[in-house]
Amino acid sequence: MMVCIEKIYSVSALIGSGACNANCDFCAGKYLRPDAVQSLQNERNLESAIKLSARYGGWSLSLTGSGEPTVEPEVVTRALEIYDKCAQEGAYFPNVNLFTNGIRFGDREFVDEYVPRWRELGLTNIALSIHDVDRQKQAKAYNVKDYPAYEDIRDNVRKHGVGVRGTLLLRRGGVENGKTYANSVNKLIDIGFNNITSWSVGNPDGSRNEFTPSSLGLIGIKWWLFRNAKLCHGHSWGGGVYDYKGNILRITDYVTKHNPKKDFVRQLVVFQDESVDYSWIREGAKCMK
Ligand code: SF4
Repeated sequence: MMVCIEKIYSVSALIGSGACNANCDFCAGKYLRPDAVQSLQNERNLESAIKLSARYGGWSLSLTGSGEPTVEPEVVTRALEIYDKCAQEGAYFPNVNLFTNGIRFGDREFVDEYVPRWRELGLTNIALSIHDVDRQKQAKAYNVKDYPAYEDIRDNVRKHGVGVRGTLLLRRGGVENGKTYANSVNKLIDIGFNNITSWSVGNPDGSRNEFTPSSLGLIGIKWWLFRNAKLCHGHSWGGGVYDYKGNILRITDYVTKHNPKKDFVRQLVVFQDESVDYSWIREGAKCMK
């Protein structure tokens, strides 16, 4: 039976040259770096993907990179200018997120210079990747000497009317089971993070690797959510959104394989080799070329 696409929930776009100010042992971006160039065609693809998703009921744009986008802030500005043009023409998303390791958001001068402009262009949140709520362990995961205090990042960014969300990464040896998840979530909420998304780290094709928590650990996290939080809604692609004491906890998979028999697309991915695919797993998921 033929199935038509009814919904395209979101757009994820890779931006920047792949440069990064951290050096993680399990960098998920490395394999995409050979393609990391800015081209006019990539910019046109971003515009088309935003307009297509908005027409199919999409509500969220995520800017990310094979490196750290804030290392090249003018690239973030350019991507947001493209989004702003789309929004002026009616392709508006209520959620526009910049995925980041957060290091530069500890620098108040940097934030004061760029974030007001990004907000004007439509940025609603930064999504901070958190390997550990402990600052020293966070620095170690990123292989940097020092990591800013979460409170400083929070204050620097919120001051300009942009939200700070947490992406709490589930990782073997870190947040890996119900107990470590509960501890981390409670600490982050105490700091003021009221919207926290989690997924397991793994290979780009969605398969497990040495850093992926055990299946038992992941079941423990889902069991803790079932016992302690209220499900608000499930995601068609798996996982869901929970209300935990008035805070939003979201659990999902890092990547979803596109299923042509389903009538929805989780996200259009704007790659930097001048193509747009229906998922991060690219085989059988071509959309624009
Ligand atoms: S911060 Fe991101 S891009 Fe940079 S090394 Fe770590 S995983 Fe890779």
